[in-house]
Amino acid sequence: MEKINALSIDLEEWYHSELVEGRRSSFSQVEEATAPILDLLDRYQTKASFFVVGEVAVQNPRLIQSIFERGHEIGCHTFSHTLLWKLSEPLFRKELEHFHSVMEKILGKVEIKGFRAPCFSIDNRNKWALKVLLDFGYQYDASIFPLKINPLYGVSGAPTRPYRISFEDVRKEDPQSPLMEFPLCPLMIGGLKIPISGGFYLRALPSFFLYWGLKRINRSQPFLVYFHPWEGYEKTPRFKLPLYNRVISYYGISSALKKFEFLLKHFKFTRVDQILELK
Ligand SMILES: [Zn+2]
Repeated sequence: MEKINALSIDLEEWYHSELVEGRRSSFSQVEEATAPILDLLDRYQTKASFFVVGEVAVQNPRLIQSIFERGHEIGCHTFSHTLLWKLSEPLFRKELEHFHSVMEKILGKVEIKGFRAPCFSIDNRNKWALKVLLDFGYQYDASIFPLKINPLYGVSGAPTRPYRISFEDVRKEDPQSPLMEFPLCPLMIGGLKIPISGGFYLRALPSFFLYWGLKRINRSQPFLVYFHPWEGYEKTPRFKLPLYNRVISYYGISSALKKFEFLLKHFKFTRVDQILELK
């Protein structure tokens, strides 16, 4: 039977990306950048999980309502998109309080089940964040990037398929844990783990390779795709960044929406909470 995969969109502005951080701006493009994504999801009758940055919701309440009304899952991507490594536990609680009060104003009492940390910033240094998520009623996290190839993020040795995450060690499964984790699922070839299902990797890799690699993952498990509105929007402002940041941030933007559609055409997707069968 064809596997159903998880599709997630991190709903943030072009300036929230860590690599252009420090260039915050009042210029908002998230609504225009998200519109074609929502249209594609409708066209392919696919639901997705949107991990929303609270301050984006403050500026774009109608967009959040529209995403919700179209049947997508609303999850949390913090209030201010501050990396969790830069927050203390009390400050993280404040971020979530702020996020939830904004969402309640926009959507009323809607249960928020899922969380994604900005830039996958959960590892064993800030595993306290898991307990905070539980206190706020979350049922799953989707912030573990189970390999260390990027200087910013990654938890080497973490499981590469959904698991009940241990509060003592985020790399361990704990059958008693109340919190599910949906990590990124890399392609395994021999001893190699290659991330292919989101962000820069999705933009950079050719479609035939994505097709081959993702079908290969699907032989044994579902995978999780992550995508950002600014990644598929031609008008995303381009800065003169250092070479590495420039490539990772801007490579393949002009063809990213076509890749996104290619995935919708060839794979089945739904919201993260539905794959995890959460109530
Ligand atoms: Zn983000």
